[in-house]
This record gives sequence, C-alpha cells and structure tokens, in this order.
Amino acid sequence: MPRNTSTASSRSGSPPLRPPRSSAVTAVIAAAGSGERLGAGGPKAFVPVAGRPLVEWSIEAFRACESVHSIVVAVPPGHVGELAGHDLGVVPGGATRAQSVANALEAVGTAYVAVHDAARPLLTPDLVEALVADLDSNEVAAGVIAAAPVTDTIKRAVEKPSAELSTSGVPNSAFVIEVTEDRSRLWRAQTPQVFRTEALREAVAAAERPEEATDEAMLVEAAGETVLIHPVAEQNLKVTTPLDLRVAELLLAERGA
Ligand code: C5P
Repeated sequence: MPRNTSTASSRSGSPPLRPPRSSAVTAVIAAAGSGERLGAGGPKAFVPVAGRPLVEWSIEAFRACESVHSIVVAVPPGHVGELAGHDLGVVPGGATRAQSVANALEAVGTAYVAVHDAARPLLTPDLVEALVADLDSNEVAAGVIAAAPVTDTIKRAVEKPSAELSTSGVPNSAFVIEVTEDRSRLWRAQTPQVFRTEALREAVAAAERPEEATDEAMLVEAAGETVLIHPVAEQNLKVTTPLDLRVAELLLAERGA
C-alpha cells in the first residue's frame, strides 16, 4: 500500500472479499472527477443515482466478482473519508484521470488490475469476469478492454475561419469535413480495462506524458503490447451529462436493485 492509502474497515457488514487465486484482480475505480459537465454541484462519483452514490454501483459489481480480491478507489482529495465502511482502499485522485489511476495503481498487489470509471455504473460482474477470462486464455495479450462498435458515420473535420468559406464577412468559423472514416474498423473504448499489472506499470513508466492518456489501453498500446477488444452492448453507458444520468437511473431502477 502507498503511504497515502487509507483502508476503511468493514463496519458496513459487507461480505468479505475472496482470497487471491492465480489470476487475482484488483479493481481500480477512477472516481476523482469534478463532474463539471454534469452540473450536480459536487463530484460526480457521489451524485445519487437510483438510491445510492454513483460510485457504489461499480463497487458492488466488483464485490460480486469471484476474481476480484481487492478494490482501490481514487476519490477527489478531501473526499477520502466518504467511503469509510466499505472495506476497500481509498486514495486521493490527481489532476487528470490518468494521474488518479496511477495513484491507485501503487496500491495494487495482484497479477491483474481492472481499471474502471465510476462514471459507468451499469457495470456487471459478468463483464468483468469475461474480460479476465479473455486475458487468462491469451498469453500474448497484455490487456483486454470493453469496447462498443461505432454505429454513427464518423467524419474528421478541421475548423476554418469564415473568410476561407465565403465573402459575406460574417465573423464565424465552420467545421469543414476532411474525410469520412471507415467505421467498420472503429470502436468506442470503455471501461473496464483489464491488464497484467506489470505490463500496465511498465507502460505508465515508459510513457512521455502518461498524465495525458484518456485510457490505460493507449499507454499499453504505445508500449508495443497487444491489447484485445471485448465487444460489449450499449448498456455500459458513461454518465457525463444530465441526460445520461436520467438514462442510468431508469436502467438501474429496471434492474430492481
Ligand atoms: O471526466 P470523465 O467523465 O471523462 O472521467 C472519467 C472517469 O475518470 C470518471 O469516473 C472520473 O471520476 C474519473 N476521473 C478521475 N480523476 C480525475 C478526472 C476524472 O478519477 N482527475
């Protein structure tokens, strides 16, 4: 455990986590975002969704996984005490998502690590176990990520000042399409992302600007390692806007939890 990790006791009476096995997993949950785009007036991870703080949905899903034997959550500095009583490690997050994950990674002592965004509360234990099984059965791969096929047609565009477009003199700019991408090869990367812990650590250490990574797979890819995709359904949505929050509420309530 790093010096800045606090381990809450299991005062809540939650079931104990299972002992490690050969491909034991530590779940790392990135929950230190400000939630500005959600506009909830506080950190997104603690916004109530279908009766409990957003982050707790992910914690409960990991808790129900046979392969997961510990959980570390990165929370906004100043909110470390808010997960007391959950039998997990809590670390202060960093200025970027990647820094928050790096802080939590210091506390990982298992062969595998499953990185997950608290912003995806519809996580299921089945999805986590499927990713772990994929990695177990592929010795070449350093990681496996959940991802969904792109269904929209994707354009690459550049912003051009209006002077290049018209003679009207209106001081607007416009996005001009350069190319239409081949969507049959494009995927939307999600979490969870499961890695061999040493491979992820080495990739973070080797990266020039690891703090700028928007997911962990891009660091491992850049290190020349093989990362697999596990195709997932659309339901594993990410809560970013108030509309996403409404949809997540409905789907979680439907589960009857
Ligand atoms: O902002 P965005 O929704 O892309 O964040 C993805 C996840 O990363 C969220 O669960 C958020 O709490 C987390 N995050 C973090 N530390 C930051 C910024 C975001 O753990 N500094």
